[in-house]
Amino acid sequence: MTSLRSHTDRRSVSKRAAALLFCAVVVGMPAHNRAYQQYGVQVGSKTIKLKWNRMPVQYYIENVGISGITASQLQATVDASFTTWHNVATAAVSAQDAGFTTARPTQDDGLSVIGFLSDPQEPSVLGSTDWLINDTTGEIVESDIFFNSAPSIPWSVSAGGTSGRFDLQSIATHEIGHFWGLGHSALGETEQVSGGRRVIAKGAVMFPIAYSPGNITDRTLQPDDIAGISDLYPSGGFSSLTGSVTGTITKNGQGVFGAHVVAFSPTSGVLVGNFTQDATGAFTIAGLAPGPVILRVEPVDDADLDSFFDDPSKVDVNFKIAYYGRFAIVPPGGNAGQIQIQVTAK
Ligand SMILES: [Zn+2]
Repeated sequence: MTSLRSHTDRRSVSKRAAALLFCAVVVGMPAHNRAYQQYGVQVGSKTIKLKWNRMPVQYYIENVGISGITASQLQATVDASFTTWHNVATAAVSAQDAGFTTARPTQDDGLSVIGFLSDPQEPSVLGSTDWLINDTTGEIVESDIFFNSAPSIPWSVSAGGTSGRFDLQSIATHEIGHFWGLGHSALGETEQVSGGRRVIAKGAVMFPIAYSPGNITDRTLQPDDIAGISDLYPSGGFSSLTGSVTGTITKNGQGVFGAHVVAFSPTSGVLVGNFTQDATGAFTIAGLAPGPVILRVEPVDDADLDSFFDDPSKVDVNFKIAYYGRFAIVPPGGNAGQIQIQVTAK
């Protein structure tokens, strides 16, 4: 699904479909992505993590408001969401508000622009992020975000949220996670309601489906989000203070692709998740506090597969939930060792 638009010396990876946040009360039909973890960019024969190489990153606010929200309110809201990511002590990300612009968030012009765009064709899309990537280095050179200003989507910028309206700061916080290069997390529980999925609980701002209108929970990052951004831009002792778990998920002796693996700390209650990423069934979960974790494996079933994977047809969802039979002990700055978990078909 990744569509590439050719430029002379770089390519625009239109991951618009990849970085969509969908409104919960409408159809849950998001697009492709991966875990809390990162996108891979193919550069020559290598896969490079999608990320910015230079800080601070400058971003611009399109100088256009919508009914009930001025451009200045949009700016203050976006600034607050960026500050939330800046405040992660174990991640080195920083962005500067470069002021207003008349440039649009749809232009590949070297400017990272955040603004409103009406997309009435996609009434379930609340916001979207895409990137322009240097073809040689894989680094992000531009990232644009738009929020859907279609009349069917009511927005709020009030401090405490507004009943019946989507919280712009919450959605901006999710989209800015994509801006930095993060994909989706599968840490969420949903239920089917008429017309789509309703979120019951989320363990990550980067879960692909939004909370219902009025909810402001996603203004605050969760441990899974913090692990993801810190793994991508480690700082503040992240590499020495936290550890990781790696392993393999198999079924009938074969690797399982697309299994959701979750590490749960019984002491802190923290959840961090990731996916098996290839046909060998290998997974890595980084950013874990040292100590014991419980490992649980489950099929992806709380959002559409293409929220997480480029090719959903490769993903195996036909297996029962399974646990690792003992604690995995995460050492500071190290790895808990190769963990093997076998699952069985449903
Ligand atoms: Zn998203």
